[in-house]
Amino acid sequence: MDCLFCKIIAGEIPCDKVYEDEKVFAFRDINPQAPVHVLLVPKKHMRNILECDGETAAALVRAVGAVAKREGLEADGFRVISNCGRNGCQSVEHLHVHLLGGAQLSEKMS
Ligand code: AMP
Repeated sequence: MDCLFCKIIAGEIPCDKVYEDEKVFAFRDINPQAPVHVLLVPKKHMRNILECDGETAAALVRAVGAVAKREGLEADGFRVISNCGRNGCQSVEHLHVHLLGGAQLSEKMS
């Protein structure tokens, strides 16, 4: 399968990895939109949130918490986004969650 994030998880494309567990892999976004911008992806390929099962969703949420604490975002907060499909401007068709923080973020989300 020709999937960018599957290749990153497999180590075929380099990344700045920040976290890994049995189900989740996380690395810094190549084009950061905030001082901390981490992408968390399930190791198992799934296109978007519509294909996500409960176990994977729980693993992603746990990993978001772990990475947020590791990155020092606990006190001041952060934002979690998952773009889905064309209207959501999803550009990589492997489910991913953006974790953004490290500064005051915009009130606008659209
Ligand atoms: P989305 O637009 O929600 O699909 O997010 C895809 C994200 O992947 C974008 O924020 C890109 O900057 C990021 N991205 C694309 N290629 C890479 C890469 N090789 N390493 C890290 N992040 C990447």
